[in-house]
Amino acid sequence: MAEINRAVKGTNDVLPSESHKLQFVEGKMLEVAGLYGYNEIRVPVFEHTEVFLRSVGDTTDVVQKEMYTFDDKGGRSITLRPELTAGVVRSAIEKGLVNGALPVKVCYIGGCYRYEKPQAGRLREFHQFGVECIGAASPNADAEVISLARQVLMSVGIEKISLEINSIGCPECRKDYHKALKEYFTANTDRLCDTCLERLERNPMRILDCKSPVCSEIAAGAPVVTDYLCEECREHFEGVKANLEAMGISYTVNPHIVRGLDYYTRTVFEFISGDIGAQSTVCGGGRYDGLISQMGGPKTASLGFAMGIERLMLVLENQKIALPEAAKTDLYIAPLGDKAQLTASSLCAKLRGDGFRVETDICGRGLKAQMKFADKTGAKFTMVIGDNEIASSGAELKNMRTGEAFPVKFDSLSDELYKAINKSAFDDLAEAIL
Ligand code: ATP
Ligand code: MG
Repeated sequence: MAEINRAVKGTNDVLPSESHKLQFVEGKMLEVAGLYGYNEIRVPVFEHTEVFLRSVGDTTDVVQKEMYTFDDKGGRSITLRPELTAGVVRSAIEKGLVNGALPVKVCYIGGCYRYEKPQAGRLREFHQFGVECIGAASPNADAEVISLARQVLMSVGIEKISLEINSIGCPECRKDYHKALKEYFTANTDRLCDTCLERLERNPMRILDCKSPVCSEIAAGAPVVTDYLCEECREHFEGVKANLEAMGISYTVNPHIVRGLDYYTRTVFEFISGDIGAQSTVCGGGRYDGLISQMGGPKTASLGFAMGIERLMLVLENQKIALPEAAKTDLYIAPLGDKAQLTASSLCAKLRGDGFRVETDICGRGLKAQMKFADKTGAKFTMVIGDNEIASSGAELKNMRTGEAFPVKFDSLSDELYKAINKSAFDDLAEAIL
């Protein structure tokens, strides 16, 4: 197929027959975030490359292999965002949010770009919902953020999903841990992949996140970070666990979780589904107490998470969780002839102004073709207008599901339609219950 007719590899189109599902899910995300005091922030799709190098970290897969980076016509190095935290933090510093009332609680939904090998749950353009809580150091902040992510998952109907948490400590206690890791992996240098050999020098913890089977196998026997936590980090982690328990949130501690990005400190967590194959992490997050100062802002304890929306949709599909159906046309008005077409236009304008979903013929079709179209769109009611109807200023409203028809007057059409829709919905409900 010619390239002009072909989407770029690793990208998805959301067709109109599917978009209502995403609208529902994204609506829930923002709604639940609102319950916790989070407001939406929108940041650009691209940033100066430096923003990601500084934040995501140059020893990560994202920076080393996955970024879409190019020079713009002004010679600036620009990168399509591989995630949103970096841009949000850049904005919070630049626009002074970090100097105002803390904590700053923001959420976002947006596209991300990573040059990865496309497969189920792994795309080159994908979308994330996430939150950032900037300026909160207490362990109950971690538990609250985890609770928010969990409530989002539950609000769309997902109950079967597990929460794994870990603490990767602070730069202080990580020094000893890095030393222990270096010793352990140095004994295995003959089997490590080339990238991990480089990581061994610069950031041995990254090896724990390597996707190669041999490196993962070696990593499984590596020293665990929880054995190296300093007193403060250990206390913080205990506080997180106590708060999760107080909220009735079950979790398991998985000392092998380190997360794919460099900026994390202390708490890291993942929500994992057993129903979507190898790309099983639906949501990942954690604390990044050092990131804001690293990006040039004041030292500000912060945390957040990002949830892959496509992976979440896969869980919904594979767990066969029903989502609300797309809204249907309330009324299709079928005019016969030019004069009736003008009456239809006038009625449509009035009804739409009153908030009804109304369609009419805009293709100059005959009655049969119009009714076929109305049927295809799932219109709840139809109304045919010809000379007689114009003369009497009224017509028959037909319920497309039951076939029932009754007369209505044009000047009270909104009221009549409102009643008819409610009665029909009530009858459907009664039928479903009985
Ligand atoms: P993975 O280990 O699967 O590569 P990651 O550690 O790179 O994930 P993050 O950078 O933490 O992931 O992104 C948060 C979430 O965004 C992931 O848990 C996942 O749901 C989603 N995600 C990440 N990369 C992709 C991708 N290429 N396609 C679809 N979703 C993705
Ligand atoms: Mg990745």
